Amino acid sequence: MVNDEDMPYLRRCVELATKALELGDEPFGSVLVSAGGKVLFEDHNHVASGDHTRHPEFEIARWAAGNMSPEARAEATVYTSGEHCPMCAAAHGWVGLGRIVYVSSSEQLTAWLSELGVPAPPVRALPIREVVPNVRVEGPVPSLVEQIHDLHRRLHREKEL
Ligand SMILES: [Zn+2]
Repeated sequence: MVNDEDMPYLRRCVELATKALELGDEPFGSVLVSAGGKVLFEDHNHVASGDHTRHPEFEIARWAAGNMSPEARAEATVYTSGEHCPMCAAAHGWVGLGRIVYVSSSEQLTAWLSELGVPAPPVRALPIREVVPNVRVEGPVPSLVEQIHDLHRRLHREKEL
């Protein structure tokens, strides 16, 4: 269950997603937190460079593989503004990270992009559980979802202008 202790990290993900949008990128942000509650690494999307693998959850998986023991990775939590895509869910699983908490689901994102008339992405948005069935996954978090929805509206409206 998502609890009060999770909320500051989730709000930080929303801040990072907002920062990404302000920098001209897609609004996604993620935070890696140790078992003791320490923020170890955080990032936002960098796909505006043209490299569409530059998702924050993928960067987190690679950072964790290089900097944490397998035990510490398994006890860590990844907080993220939007549910992992299949690439990032697979990376998460391969490096053996622990719990995932996301604000908005891939299902919600797919519905929003369809409403906004955005063409379907080349990679299908599967639920994390379909990719890594043994990872503990929680979300969406209704109290923050509308903020993420708004960032996607801003991204695609700004593109039209
Ligand atoms: Zn991803």
